[in-house]
Formats: sequence, C-alpha cells, structure tokens
Amino acid sequence: MKIEKIHQSKINQIDFDTLAFGKNFTDHMFICQYKGGKWQNPEIKPYAPITLDPSASVLHYGQAIFEGMKAYKDDENIIWLFRPEENFNRLNKSAKRLQIPEFPASYFFEGLTQLLTLDHEWIKPGEGNSLYVRPFVFANQATVQASASQEYLFMIICAPVKSYYSGGEINVLIAEEFSRAADGGVGYAKAAGNYAAQFYPTSLALKEGFQQIIWTDASSHEYMEEAGTMNIFFRINDTLITAPVSDRILDGVTRKSIIKLAEHQGIKVEERPIKVDEIKKAHAQGSLQEIFGSGTAVVVLPINSFSHHGTTYKLPEAAPIALELKTKLVAIQYNKAEDPFGWRKEVTV
Ligand SMILES: *Cc1c(COP(=O)(O)O)cnc(C)c1O
Repeated sequence: MKIEKIHQSKINQIDFDTLAFGKNFTDHMFICQYKGGKWQNPEIKPYAPITLDPSASVLHYGQAIFEGMKAYKDDENIIWLFRPEENFNRLNKSAKRLQIPEFPASYFFEGLTQLLTLDHEWIKPGEGNSLYVRPFVFANQATVQASASQEYLFMIICAPVKSYYSGGEINVLIAEEFSRAADGGVGYAKAAGNYAAQFYPTSLALKEGFQQIIWTDASSHEYMEEAGTMNIFFRINDTLITAPVSDRILDGVTRKSIIKLAEHQGIKVEERPIKVDEIKKAHAQGSLQEIFGSGTAVVVLPINSFSHHGTTYKLPEAAPIALELKTKLVAIQYNKAEDPFGWRKEVTV
C-alpha cells in the first residue's frame, strides 16, 4: 500500500479535553478507488479535502454507505478494536443493497491497521477516550445517468472523541406519522439517505422539546423499532426486550453485544416485536423499569421519558441494568475485563 505521510502533525492544535463529536480528524486518511470493474491500489494520504465533479453520481442519486466503529487504547498503550469484522461484513451488506461493489477484506483490515498505527497518538488512553473510525463508500462517477455508478471511492477517516454525555434528560417522541424504514427498503443498511430522511421529523421533535424519535413500523405505527439512530431495549420486570432485526432494523454491533452480555449474566432477553400499547400497559402497572438505546457512539443511552398521542410517560430515575451492561461492555472494549466472547482485536502492524 502506498503511504504518504504528513510533514507536520496537527495534533498539538487539538484540545483533547473539549472535543466535539466528529469535528476533528487525524493526520491521515485511507482512500481506494473503484474503476474499470475493480478496486484499485489503496493509499494512505494526509487528511485533506477531495475534489468531486459536479455530476458525481452520489450528489444526484445518493449511492453512499458508511460504518461507525471505535479504536481504544489500554493502559499499556495497546490499541484495540471491538468486533471489527462485524463492521466489515455489515459494510458489504449495505454495499450490496445499494448496488455498490463489495470491498475486499484484506484492503479494509490492512488499511485500517496502517491508518491506526500511523495516527496512534490520536488515540488517548483512559476510559471515555477513543478514536471514532468512519469507513464510507460513495459513487463518484461523473455522470447524471440514473443508474448504478461505475466508479466509487472507499475512504476511512478517524476522529478522536470523548464519551458522549448529553448532561440532560433524554425524552423521546414515539413516531405516529413519519417512518424511518419500510419492508423491502434499506432500513437495515447503513445508507446515508436513511439519515437524511430522519433529519426533518427529528427537527420537528426537537422543536417540541424531545431529544430523539422512537421509530415505529411504517404500516401501523404500533410497534417500536429503533430510537433515533440507535437500537432500542425495554426492561419489563427483569426481562429485556428488543425488536428483532429485519429489513427495517439495523443489526447493531452494540445491540448484539448487549444481548450476549445480558444473557451471559442470566438476564432474560426477548427479541420480538414490541407494541407501544404493551409498554404503556407495563408503565401503568409499574413493571416498565428501563428503556435505553444502544449504538457505538453512546454505547448505552438511558431514556427518561416517552411521549405518545400527547401523553408523556416518565421512567424510573435509575437505569441500573442499562448502566451495568454499559460498564461491562466498556470494560471489555478497554481491555479492563475478561473477554469471554473474543470480541477484542489487538491492532498490530
Ligand atoms: C449504526 C446504527 C445503529 C447502531 O449500530 P452499532 O453497530 O451498534 O453502532 C443502530 N441503528 C441505526 C439506524 C444505525 O444506523
């Protein structure tokens, strides 16, 4: 792989104590072009803007997908990834749905390893510090022809982040009109357009004082599927319930890890459709204990209330299971606990 290093690092310009999520990027980036029916030579270069033809296909027809993962550093300065093969497999699953050519595993893992090694100083040890890794692919063929692009760019960029802490309550609105995904659609893919379509309904919810929307199924709006861009869990009495993955639901790495961890410690987990009515009933009976979202950026995010048809339902202040599972997962990610499932991958060149 061709590697072009920066002349001078910009790391000293970064205040690692006050990082805004995803706004500062490391010194290098990985880039690989698909052209003439194959992925060309991958390269690592200094992080810099790229040029696009105004007719670049992605700007018109939206063939764009991405992944989100994190690299961690332990107290011995060893770098770890968490289940990276899951992200790689999901990237190609998304690619397939968007008619984007699949990316070779060897390029992905070698590019990632080289990039993390070059920019290793950007990964700070200490819990809460990590490097958010953003692989993405988009169509860059210069044409407004409405068909799958013949050319793509695959890139990886990295942003140092601190653990997400909103500082405030998370009050969510259950969607009654808008939908995130439908059967036969692209909800299960990490397609850029899924995010674009969420911004407007979410902005309306924000105006009403909510922080997130709980997406419901497109046909009846009776079943709860995801919380914003997170998977969602409910605890009724001592059972965790989460919607089953489907066409409409993103198969989150955090979600599946939470399920495994919970089961490992004897918590009952049910993957099944969850009706809004069931949750309202459980709330009325006092058996609804917790609701939380899960995703790479937040790990686990407890929800304080939900609203439906104009009524707000408050949840108990404490979210003990959410926080316990978060602590356990984070300890595995930072090499501070046993890893019974072999999730951690050391990064070595
Ligand atoms: C990325 C994403 C998630 C979380 O997936 P993780 O692999 O846990 O980060 C959940 N829902 C949606 C819609 C997503 O895009």
